[in-house]
Amino acid sequence: MNVLRGVIHPESGENVVDLGMIENLHVSDDKISLTLAFARHRDPMAASLKKNIESALVTAYPQYAGKIAIFLKEAAPKPKPQPTDQTHSTSNLAEVKNIIAISSAKGGVGKSTVTANLAVALSHMNYRVGVLDADLYGPSQPTLFGLEDYSPVGEKIDGEERIIPGESIGIKLMSIGFFIDASDALIWRGPMATNALRQMIRQTQWGALDFLLVDLPPGTGDIHLTLVSDLPFTGAVIVSTPQKIALADVVRGIKMFRNDKIHVPILGLIENMSWFTPAELPDHRYYIFGRGGARDLAAKEGIKLLGEIPLIQSVREASDEGRPIANEASPAAAYYEDVAGNMIHQLDKLL
Ligand code: ADP
Repeated sequence: MNVLRGVIHPESGENVVDLGMIENLHVSDDKISLTLAFARHRDPMAASLKKNIESALVTAYPQYAGKIAIFLKEAAPKPKPQPTDQTHSTSNLAEVKNIIAISSAKGGVGKSTVTANLAVALSHMNYRVGVLDADLYGPSQPTLFGLEDYSPVGEKIDGEERIIPGESIGIKLMSIGFFIDASDALIWRGPMATNALRQMIRQTQWGALDFLLVDLPPGTGDIHLTLVSDLPFTGAVIVSTPQKIALADVVRGIKMFRNDKIHVPILGLIENMSWFTPAELPDHRYYIFGRGGARDLAAKEGIKLLGEIPLIQSVREASDEGRPIANEASPAAAYYEDVAGNMIHQLDKLL
């Protein structure tokens, strides 16, 4: 804390400790982590203060170089004026500000893991967040949030049948997995699954949310057309690994969102499993699935690369245990916070 008192916020002239900006400071043998809290949304000093704190700590404690995790927490943005159009006032999505599609061209690239952790990162920034798990072929959000045993209940609200979502670490969750037994393979591909999905989309009682992240099924199929016609998406995010065959399919995903009938703005591409760093060789990066492919593709297609998330064992372990890693002060969490910040930046540009 004494070291941090040497870091001054340039606007106020006071140090970050006395300004009450330092939260959750943890020091262990192998890392220092802390949360840097801002009283306003998108403080222009955020990036430079984060850098100054990091260099002050490394100067005082060189043994922690590369082992410092700083999370940014921002105050929620001022509410946007509500649209005057009242046609959706009775809809279950009336108070949902941004609906974001999280998609991937291929299965297994980490789309669901990214969705869950991005939701947590946004919630740490004081946004109200919900997750709609529409991945018919592998609904994994109940597991990721430790809500496998949740059974949604129905309720009549203002004369409408509504379904109450589950809730874990402040995030509301509705999943197609709550309605259809995973072993019922036949139902998954037929109209019953689509009907269940539609019912879930129309009846979930979300209440007021800043973000609803929708975990889409992988690929580009009819089900996506259904989803896009039923949900007024604000924007879409595409997740891929750097592998050539995964990236080739990403182009199809980009085309789908740009298609005249769909026309959802693409906020950017997230590269997952970008590299692997073994614990015993912290300065090494192994580019298991290839290197730089997503960055090149994003540049070629004119979309933003929102972040590169390495392959981290604790991400997989925490996922299996039903606790998204972004909820813990860990170096892994910082990657999701970065992606969340970049996504919000892209959203701001849309307005
Ligand atoms: P998808 O939704 O694209 O099918 P998942 O999110 O289910 O993919 O992820 C596939 C597997 O990869 C899961 O076992 C998950 O825990 C793991 N995984 C995803 N991202 C990472 C990561 N950054 N580091 C380590 N494991 C990851």
